[in-house]
Amino acid sequence: MKINPEYNSKEKLLNLYNKPLLELVFEAATVHRKFHNPREVQMSSLLSIKTGGCPEDCGYCPQAARYHTDVEAHKLMSVETVIEQAKNAKNNGSSRLCMGAAWRDVRDNKDFDSVIEMVQAVNDLDMEVCCTLGMLNEDQAVRLKNAGLFAYNHNLDSSPDFYKDIISTREYEQRLDTIGNARKAGISVCSGGIIGMGEAIEDRVGLLWSYMQMENPPESIPINALVAVEGTPLADQKPIEQWEMIRMVATTRIAFPETMVRLSAGRTKMSMEGQALCFMAGAGSIFAGDKLLTTPNPEFNEDKEMFDILGLITKEPFANGEKPVSKPDEKIIERKRKEAERAAQIEANRGTKVEGFEPRKVVSENN
Ligand code: SF4
Repeated sequence: MKINPEYNSKEKLLNLYNKPLLELVFEAATVHRKFHNPREVQMSSLLSIKTGGCPEDCGYCPQAARYHTDVEAHKLMSVETVIEQAKNAKNNGSSRLCMGAAWRDVRDNKDFDSVIEMVQAVNDLDMEVCCTLGMLNEDQAVRLKNAGLFAYNHNLDSSPDFYKDIISTREYEQRLDTIGNARKAGISVCSGGIIGMGEAIEDRVGLLWSYMQMENPPESIPINALVAVEGTPLADQKPIEQWEMIRMVATTRIAFPETMVRLSAGRTKMSMEGQALCFMAGAGSIFAGDKLLTTPNPEFNEDKEMFDILGLITKEPFANGEKPVSKPDEKIIERKRKEAERAAQIEANRGTKVEGFEPRKVVSENN
């Protein structure tokens, strides 16, 4: 049951969100236990493989080039560094690696070829690979799928109405198209939102309603609390109360019983008790590591302690879907073939005297 038929209108969803908190948590916990092992929580790691310098204007994002934040722009990480980071994440208990690049959209260039190689390599480590690279066309989605990509993340962020107050450089519809392209390629979809950006409760519910209207709603919905960063337009936004995160997680769980609800950014502002209520209400994943792309996140040891205290266990990779098979990428093979040919040509020409060719003597006018 991907969608809960009991909540088939925005009004019903809104009433659900506004239920007395403990009743809401109880209902969510009941649904959660029917569809998931309530002790299992997936540890995921989020790695920024290309940081900053993004041409988009997402009002919450310190990576947008137009805002003056402390984030330094970096070019794409090397494949070797990504493999090393993935191994560290795996050793620390993560079963999923999400690689984020601050791009508006994916370009068919050498950088994308490197991302394809990263996906192949991390999939070979038996980790679920997720990417968030901006807008994606159908062909690019197919290449990622063939490389072994498990999931593609592309958030809708908020309701269609409120979205316009936060982002002007790309339309809600374009986001839906990218999600559709990932879906067509057979990639599992991860898409969620951020609360605490100044939106109304109706906008939070409006986000969930957008997913409810999809023929095939996301397998994974991350719920983030805004981490207000100096220099961004939302820098002065007051942090939300943790009760609001609990409500949002619980409502999402009830509305989408099978979906993985991810308790994502904003955990540093929550107590362990608050997070415990989120797990009880259906959160099935957290992001581990002291950085979430560029914003702070609890230390690995704090999370380990929380897992011990709450009796949580980490979820194995591919518990919710088969491990994809990485296939060789034809474009990379062709590019490497051409590069090898060119290198061989240069080598062959080196030191070769061309018959009948005499270099012209250059005479300086000053002589
Ligand atoms: S959220 Fe993504 S698309 Fe928007 S500015 Fe940040 S990096 Fe760019």
